[in-house]
Amino acid sequence: MSKKSFPLSLEQLREAAARFPTPFHLYDEAAIRANARRMRAAFAAAGVPGYREFFAVKALPNPFILKILAEEGFGADCSSLAELRLCQAAGISGDRVMMTSNETPDGEFREARRMGAILNLDDITHIDAVVAATGSLPETICFRYNPGPLKGGNAIIGKPEEAKYGLTRDQLFEAYARARELGVRRFGLHTMVASNELDVQYHIDTARLVFALGAEIKARLGIELAFFNGGGGVGIPYRPDQAPLDYAALAAGVARAREEILVPAGLGGAAWYTEWGRCVTGPYGWLVARAIRRKETYRSYVGLDACMANLMRPGMYGAYHHVTVPGKEDAPADRVYDVVGSLCENNDKFAVQRALPEIAEGDFVVIHDTGAHGHAMGFNYNGKLRSAEILLRPDGTLLPIRRAETLDDLFATLDFRALADFA
Ligand SMILES: *Cc1c(COP(=O)(O)O)cnc(C)c1O
Repeated sequence: MSKKSFPLSLEQLREAAARFPTPFHLYDEAAIRANARRMRAAFAAAGVPGYREFFAVKALPNPFILKILAEEGFGADCSSLAELRLCQAAGISGDRVMMTSNETPDGEFREARRMGAILNLDDITHIDAVVAATGSLPETICFRYNPGPLKGGNAIIGKPEEAKYGLTRDQLFEAYARARELGVRRFGLHTMVASNELDVQYHIDTARLVFALGAEIKARLGIELAFFNGGGGVGIPYRPDQAPLDYAALAAGVARAREEILVPAGLGGAAWYTEWGRCVTGPYGWLVARAIRRKETYRSYVGLDACMANLMRPGMYGAYHHVTVPGKEDAPADRVYDVVGSLCENNDKFAVQRALPEIAEGDFVVIHDTGAHGHAMGFNYNGKLRSAEILLRPDGTLLPIRRAETLDDLFATLDFRALADFA
């Protein structure tokens, strides 16, 4: 059972809200660092060689966070030009950047190569696309494998054979052979078939799948893969009755798979990479809002000053996010509310029919586990503005690492002077 905590006392929260108007996302730097160290320690203790985590930038695309993670020895996984630029700003480049993109524009291949990033190609046609866009192939290439019916997917990512990502098994053999012909010397193999998956065995089975394929690639083509990349998809306990995934058990399972499959195949030197996003920062972020309205109709509603534009997961996936009311932790949860935002969309609900203590206008309402795919999935529909991001430093101080959007930001792409002349 995971305890749902919030790092500020009510007093500290009041002080914070006096400086930074709600809503805002709060991130706990010390907890993010401690988690990063646990991850690395688990793989080191299990004896997995060359382990490197490439943090999936899309989960929390803030350069301050990237810099913290780089200090903890992480690289970064990118899928767009903007994410590559954020890595550069945070001092992450070269083979610390994995470019796992799809439908990649030429300019993004060029930028990734300029930075020396590892290209993780999503399709066999991308071999020629990279040559056309950049004039050559880099020394190192990774391919993304889509196992199709050989592996079950899960609710968020869907069935692999319906997923747009990756090469088929047959295409992979052709792709490695062709890339070698064109001068590539180092190869990697990537797959990602799940999202928010808490089952350790599922991730170990994925490692076994790519290891076995790596052994077959060596047997059939004589190509010895330099690394395997297990992608992202490690889940977090969004519900208070769920337990976090045991990194040590996962690392031990990967180590065992390596002993059983890679070492006998002569691939014992291959490194193990991950592109985890959610589990790296997710549990260490909170959306802090205030209740501004209450409404009684067929249901009891609490209206917040935050909305789905600040956190899309509940509305988009029906995802559970825990909700607490600071100062009322010990009050009985004897009310049932829909906790909602102000968007003109009925799925703008952070919680549906949730048992909570009585909430008054002005109460703080904290939505938990927003540190990944939270602010990042924000949008401006209905003219809603994305919130600030505030970093709780290990010394207890608060640092704004992104200001809140203003109406000027929202309207920056409109030319009101041209409008005045527009007949
Ligand atoms: C989204 C994504 C990740 C990170 O996934 P999490 O579920 O946040 O761990 C990693 N790699 C790729 C290619 C992705 O698209």
